[in-house]
This record gives sequence, C-alpha cells and structure tokens, in this order.
Amino acid sequence: STLVDIRHLVKSYRRGDQAVPVLTDITLAIDAGDFTALMGPSGSGKSTLLNLIAGIDKPDSGILLVNGLDITQLSEAELADWRAANVGFIFQFYNLMPVLSAVENVELPLLLTGLSRRERRERAELTLAMVNLSDRLDHYPSELSGGQQQRVAIARAIVTDPTLIVADEPTGDLDRQSAVEVLDLLKRLNQELGKTIIMVTHDAHAAQRARSIVHLDKGELLRE
Ligand code: ADP
Ligand code: ADP
Repeated sequence: STLVDIRHLVKSYRRGDQAVPVLTDITLAIDAGDFTALMGPSGSGKSTLLNLIAGIDKPDSGILLVNGLDITQLSEAELADWRAANVGFIFQFYNLMPVLSAVENVELPLLLTGLSRRERRERAELTLAMVNLSDRLDHYPSELSGGQQQRVAIARAIVTDPTLIVADEPTGDLDRQSAVEVLDLLKRLNQELGKTIIMVTHDAHAAQRARSIVHLDKGELLRE
C-alpha cells in the first residue's frame, strides 16, 4: 500500500523579493516497506523534498499524504507532534547530543512517550543492541567513531518505532567501510523489520543498496 502520496508538490524559496523555484511539480508515491534512494546532483532539491515529506518544512502548494493524512494542512504545533510520533531522522553529521552518552541519546525521543525511566532505558539498550553497540552504551559521541555515532543516531531514529525513517546523506561523512556497515544496517531494518526508509544520497554505490531509486534534476523528477 502507498505510505507517502505526493501530488503536484511545489516549493520555492524567497530571495529578496523574488521566489526561486526549487521543486516545480513533484508527483510521487512511495509504498509502505520500501527503501527509496533519492538521487540527483547537488542543488537539485533532494533535501528540500525530504524535509517536506518529513514535515520539517511546508510546500507552497500540492498534496502530501502520509498514511492518508495530508500533513500540509497541519498547524506548526500539530506538525511537530506528528513528526515526533511518526518520523525518525538520520543526518549526515549524526546530530547527537555531545554531553549525553550513547544510551542517553537514544532515550531522548522516548521522553515524550510517557514510558517510565526504567522502560526508557530498557528500550534504548535493546535498540542499541540491534545496531551492535551493546558494548558502547556509556560512551560519549566524542569517544565513538563516525560509523558508531551514525549507528547510535540510527538507534535514536528507530527507538520510537516511527512510521517512516528519513536519512539525509547518512554515509556522507563516513569512510567506505563504515558507509557499507551503515547501509547494511539500513537494509536490514528495511528487510527484517519492514521499516520504510527514504534516503537522500548523491552516491550511486549507496543508492544501489536501496530497493528503488528516484532521480531528481533541477527540481523535477526524472524517472522512478
Ligand atoms: P540538494 O539536497 O539536492 O543538494 P537542496 O534541496 O538542499 O538540494 O537545495 C535545492 C535548492 O534550494 C538549492 O538551490 C538551494 O540553494 C536552495 N535552498 C535550499 N534551502 C534553502 C533555504 N532555506 N533558503 C533558500 N534557498 C534554499
Ligand atoms: P569502486 O568501483 O568505486 O572502486 P569498489 O569496487 O571498490 O568501488 O566497491 C567495493 C564495494 O563497496 C562494492 O560492493 C560497492 O558497492 C561498495 N561501495 C563502494 N563505495 C561505497 C560507498 N561510498 N557506500 C557504500 N558502498 C560502497
């Protein structure tokens, strides 16, 4: 079934008193359980599209249904609640809190869920076990390699069991070996746990690990 249903999505940014078009007319469907790579040259609008799908940003016009809900119609506050409940984020530079340990970073999204302290810790530890970091629970980000930090960030993204995982250049800051590990992990989350993943990348090797590839060029979809 379709999880993300995008129709005639348009987005521009203001530069002075001019509107600069970034996405001109995007129509795209992404199935539940898919692992989609969003490819294209720098500046083609990949991150912009990902941020719209993730409810970080709002389009100028068009329809954007996630699980049947048109998130373009939500207020900022509703959108924030929707994001917290439905979207797991993975960034190029991990975005971990430097003053928190690995397990504390993974517990953070659970603070909003009403779970007890003990339940949060248990859930975070289980999730870190899934990304093979049971031996690094109390390490701080600065004590971890880039690949390990990204695995902590992946654990943080999935700990709330979101509907959708979005990843913006998740291997962009990693050496090849760590990149392969991170992609293997995303692939495993998709295949074994059925997680729906949308990944922005400009790396063809990384995109090949996905199930489907969507190409953007100058704000338009080339092919699916
Ligand atoms: P990609 O991820 O494919 O590199 P982006 O979506 O980041 O592309 O950017 C697409 C275009 O939109 C670029 O020309 C970029 O300069 C512009 N852009 C992105 N974000 C903003 C913003 N917040 N304000 C103004 N222009 C932006
Ligand atoms: P190249 O032909 O670019 O030198 P290799 O043949 O060395 O690449 O690649 C070896 C393996 O590593 C291949 O399976 C390739 O898909 C994978 N790989 C290479 N670069 C990356 C990357 N940045 N991210 C993920 N996988 C990669």
